Amino acid sequence: MTSVAKPARAAGRSLDGPPPSRMKAWVLGAPGELRLAEKPVPVPGPAEVLVRVDAVAICGTDLEVIEHGEPALIEGGAPFNRNFTPGHEYMGTVAALGPGVDEFAPGDRVAVEIHAGCGRCERCREGMYTACLNYGMNYGDRDKGHRANGFTTDGGFAEYAVNHLNTLVHVPAGMSDAEATLIVTAGTAVYGLDVVGGLVAGQSVAVIGPGAIGLMVAAVAKALGARPVILVGTTRDASRLRTGLGLGADVAIDAQERDAVSEVLELTHGRGVHYSFECSGARDAINHALRMTSRGGRVCAVAFAKEPVAVDLARLVANNIYLYGIRGEGRSATRRAAALMAQNRFPAHLLHTHTFPFAELPAAIGCAGARVEDVIKVVVEP
Ligand SMILES: [Zn+2]
Ligand SMILES: [Zn+2]
Repeated sequence: MTSVAKPARAAGRSLDGPPPSRMKAWVLGAPGELRLAEKPVPVPGPAEVLVRVDAVAICGTDLEVIEHGEPALIEGGAPFNRNFTPGHEYMGTVAALGPGVDEFAPGDRVAVEIHAGCGRCERCREGMYTACLNYGMNYGDRDKGHRANGFTTDGGFAEYAVNHLNTLVHVPAGMSDAEATLIVTAGTAVYGLDVVGGLVAGQSVAVIGPGAIGLMVAAVAKALGARPVILVGTTRDASRLRTGLGLGADVAIDAQERDAVSEVLELTHGRGVHYSFECSGARDAINHALRMTSRGGRVCAVAFAKEPVAVDLARLVANNIYLYGIRGEGRSATRRAAALMAQNRFPAHLLHTHTFPFAELPAAIGCAGARVEDVIKVVVEP
């Protein structure tokens, strides 16, 4: 394993001339099979930008896509053997502009959002572009402008990728490439906190599941003034729970050692938290979240549960609890996440634990999937 604990390179690799016409890209063959191929460098269209990928983080959803296909869908079918390049949490340098683009300039360092909604449906017009109506009914309808890089269109396990300019945010000066890949993860946390109420200063937050997104929810909640911020995991999450304390959680609970619900009630004078976030996808976690939440409080489901889950609706109704589901990072939350990170409101870099070279992507994916040692975020850099 050639991983190192921290990024070797600080910030920025300058452009050397115009982009080439061919590039190296990882493509998905049969389930679980990635191979390094050569592809034409994509050409940005109107409102699009060509990004030279400088770093890409591996997400749990990438592992799902590579093994099982879903939620990726290429032209209505499974993404296997379609010359499809996955990877959606990348950052890089603007290498070329589509016609009429003046919002970015070649050489700008940018991080990406995943979803470019169609921009013409009711939800997109409300800023809910991750819930684009030309996405659910007809997943990834490119003719209508929808794209989700790494899911319906080529993503960032390549030397170059094309992005709609609405999916780009400037990387704060001085931030490392690896840390910048985490902006989109923080964007999901900002979106969730925004959806449940936004102004969380002085209010209590519980987060179940200390994966990358759960840790970011805890960090952002703390940065926005929530108190207490309580993070709940299991024994195998021990190092992640410690990282959570470093990111701003006030309390970390190992739910296999202690009863997390009673602990949360104790920490909140018997009432429960204002907001709870289910970021684990574990079987009964949503009901634990309900029981941790005060009357009139709000529960936000963030993780994709692997199978249908029975929810204690009687408890929800009797206690006037609101239940939300969020997908990805809507309402320009990624831009606001970048602003928080530019102001060093939380040490996001703690999430980045391993780095691999581009040529060793399969090993990097194995490392992320094995969940060995202290792995949280694995980043691949060319
Ligand atoms: Zn992801
Ligand atoms: Zn739309």
